[in-house]
Amino acid sequence: MTNEELWQAVLAQIQLNTSQANFATWFKNTEISSSKGGRVIVLVPNSFAKEWLENKYNKTILKTLHDLNEEIKEISYTVGKNKLRILKKELEELPETDQLEFQEFRVNKETNLNPRYTFDSFVVGPFNELPHAAAIAVSKKPGLVYNPLFIYGGVGLGKTHLLQSIGNETAKNFKKKKTKYISSEKFASEVVSSIRNHQMEAFKEKYRGMDVLIIDDIQFLAGKEKTQEEFFHVFNVLYENNKQIILSSDRPPKAISALAERLRSRFEGGMIADISSPDFETRIAILKTKAQEKKIDFPDEIYQYIASVIQKNIRELEGALNRLSMYQKLNNQKPDLETAKKLFKNMLSSPHVVVTPKKIIQGVAEFYDLREKDLLTASRKKEIVKPRQIAMYLLRQELKGSFPFIGRRFNGKDHTTAIHSYKKICRELEKDKKLEEEICLIKERIFIS
Ligand code: ADP
Ligand code: MG
Repeated sequence: MTNEELWQAVLAQIQLNTSQANFATWFKNTEISSSKGGRVIVLVPNSFAKEWLENKYNKTILKTLHDLNEEIKEISYTVGKNKLRILKKELEELPETDQLEFQEFRVNKETNLNPRYTFDSFVVGPFNELPHAAAIAVSKKPGLVYNPLFIYGGVGLGKTHLLQSIGNETAKNFKKKKTKYISSEKFASEVVSSIRNHQMEAFKEKYRGMDVLIIDDIQFLAGKEKTQEEFFHVFNVLYENNKQIILSSDRPPKAISALAERLRSRFEGGMIADISSPDFETRIAILKTKAQEKKIDFPDEIYQYIASVIQKNIRELEGALNRLSMYQKLNNQKPDLETAKKLFKNMLSSPHVVVTPKKIIQGVAEFYDLREKDLLTASRKKEIVKPRQIAMYLLRQELKGSFPFIGRRFNGKDHTTAIHSYKKICRELEKDKKLEEEICLIKERIFIS
């Protein structure tokens, strides 16, 4: 079982017994960053989540993990965001067999290609037919048909999969040609470090020598003037030598103004193709294909349910399958429709959320593990004063409540107290990043509950 699967299993289990607000607040963006020698390290996005998981959920998490893998005896939580960096560091210490589980790390260091992404595993439907056909054509005759090939579309719709598939194909069929895949962020940081280390010539040399250059997510080049310039030079040299260039972005080229302006005429000779959202039938086809790859199988009504709930993002479709599969492993039975509905309730977006003063006060109280009553009293205890000020701040900020109204809500306090609280939090927000995060988390839970 990979760490990701393990964690999915924990999340699935916890979600069944936790309110939606709590689940979203404390478990969003968490993951297992390593599991070794009975010790699991859980990566959490901020120190509040760390504290809460340690104090309130540790037992449940440990029990679930232990049920899945008896060797797990200990958990520690660390705050961190950069999954790749941390994972890589820890990977170096892991035994060989564990490493194989991380498909992402079978990535070829030279080409940055991940063998997992192939045309074979790519489901084609009306929504991605054109970019798929173009990708196939380009991979058969790199540099000779559509050049550049520009593929755009929203998050999780298969851009990277398609780009990587082209790379894998050309690397396989044209062994003499140099293929390279790179994200635009990585490209940008290479530019920066080459400048810093006075190695710009070597940088240019390297990229001019490419036969198939794939740059993913070029929207991130927006605003990076120097990088754009280097990109532009590389692009021109390759283009003039009939080398294949493949680009992706989350928006059409004309929406990336500065960049596109210079490249516009070039794009005309190439192909611009967009991936839209998959239709219902294709979503089901994708679910079934992925299930087959993972050697799992669920009743049709479940696929239909998932496909009706998750409409815009293929990555989320995959995530849903993983969750169901974990549920099955953990409970030794196939989930039925009711269970599936429970598991995915937080994926249903509620179209209209009504925020009330009660919800705000409740949300703040729950967040700090206080009783609502405590918030409303005149207590001067530090643990209560700050949450109370935050509640007042939110009543003003989110509900546009008048200060006298806010004062009255807090057991008839004077409006000056409300003003003072509001201003104090505003001031602190300007310099306190942690407070900002804290309030964000509180808001999230108010808005989704
Ligand atoms: P993007 O780069 O557009 O954000 P990705 O290429 O990373 O999206 O796709 C997200 C996930 O969905 C990947 O795991 C990918 O394999 C899968 N996926 C996307 N499109 C398809 C498809 N048409 N057929 C099969 N899997 C797909
Ligand atoms: Mg991508």
